Formats: sequence, C-alpha cells, structure tokens
Amino acid sequence: MLQHLSQFELADRPGMITSHSLDRGPGVVVVVPDSPAAAAGIRPGDIVTAIDGRALPPETALSASFDASRAHARADSVQDLLENTGTRRFTITLLRKDSILVADVIPLPACPSHAHLARSNQRNAYADGRHVFLTTGLLSRLDNDNELAFVIAHEMAHNILRHATIMRGGDVKHGLGRTLGRSGRIIRETERTADALGGAMMLDAGFDPVRGAAILQHLGGGDLGLDLFAAHDSAGKRIAAMRALVSARPPR
Ligand SMILES: [Zn+2]
Repeated sequence: MLQHLSQFELADRPGMITSHSLDRGPGVVVVVPDSPAAAAGIRPGDIVTAIDGRALPPETALSASFDASRAHARADSVQDLLENTGTRRFTITLLRKDSILVADVIPLPACPSHAHLARSNQRNAYADGRHVFLTTGLLSRLDNDNELAFVIAHEMAHNILRHATIMRGGDVKHGLGRTLGRSGRIIRETERTADALGGAMMLDAGFDPVRGAAILQHLGGGDLGLDLFAAHDSAGKRIAAMRALVSARPPR
C-alpha cells in the first residue's frame, strides 16, 4: 500500500515530508505479509522512485491545495505502472534512508479492486469500476466482520462484473424513474448478480453471507440499498438469496 503527498492537506504535507520523504515519491505504508512485495524485501518507509526502470513523474502537489480528483489520478497513474507489468518479473527502485535499492518483484494474479475508507457521515459504499469505497458513516454501523465483508464483496463484485460500464451505457436511464421499467430491470439484475458473486467470494474467504447480509436490515427500512445504483430487491429477499446460496454450496 502506497501513500502520496497529494493525498494530504496542505498543512499536513511538511510533516509527511519530514517523517516519510513523500516529496521524493510514493511511500510504502503497509507491506502485506507473504505478498510479492514482502518477498522482494520491500519495507514500510521505503520510497518508490521507479517501476520497471521507468522513473515516476515528479510529485507536483507540493504547494497545490488538496484536490480529490488530482489525488486519485496520481495514485491511479502509479497503480497503472504496476498493473501494466502483468505477471512478468519486474523491478521497483526504492529509496531507503539515503540508499537506492532495486527490488526484484515476482507478481501474482490477484483481485484488481482496491478498497478505501472515505471520511463521510453518509452511510454508503460504492464501486467505480476500479476502486471500492466505504464511508466511515457506514463502517460505524457495522456489527461484525461478516457485515464488512458483505459490503466490500458486493462492491467488488460490481467491479469484477464491470457493472460501471453497463450503468454508463445507453440502456440505463438515470434520475427519476430509473428504478422503473427496462432500466429498473437491468439495475436490479446487476444487483442480484453482484450479491451472488459477492456471496460466493465470502464463502470462499470463510465468511458467512447470511450474517453479512443482516446489515441490510439494520440500515433501516430495507429501502436504503448499498451503493449508487440503488434499485435493489428488499432486504428480506436479498438475505433469503444468501441463505439459498449457502445451502447450495456443498460442505467441504
Ligand atoms: Zn450494488
């Protein structure tokens, strides 16, 4: 996991430069144990200066005020360089203290979605095709890890199934009336398939989709669906679908 100077408010940047040298490049915050990064010897505190021999664009956010779209674009462009290496071996050039190191990375195929926590009182979660966002408002309402896994798995399924592309296409009307007729049918169908794939992923990861889907009930009224697409079956129907999914899965 990397952090970028452009993701911080202006007032916080001098501190991040002093403590993490983020003016030199993206900083490694967390290295997942047993990941390709860990195997390559990358450590928290390292600064990434080049990927596969290509120098990263200079950090230009030094004096520009915080702008979410600029911060996202910067993080995505670095992510693109990592993802473009595909599954072949590549190098990451790092700055550690004042030394330059070259880490040899052997990638593994993995989930293409990144999950983020967004600071907001709104209770929501959404997927944009690449990232999954969950608000602090929703997080504070979750009772257990099954519920958290349900939210993330559902949104991740939207990304894996490329639903953002369908939603942007001409077949789906937005605004008033979007839950009716043909648009409503398409949206409800994407929601059902996201629940089904999300539930299957939860089972694979050892979570309980039925207990996870209980979040739909305590979000109040059952009408408050997750994410921006917002045309869902009732909470009861969605929980019943999770129950059917669990009983259809043969015991291990
Ligand atoms: Zn959804």
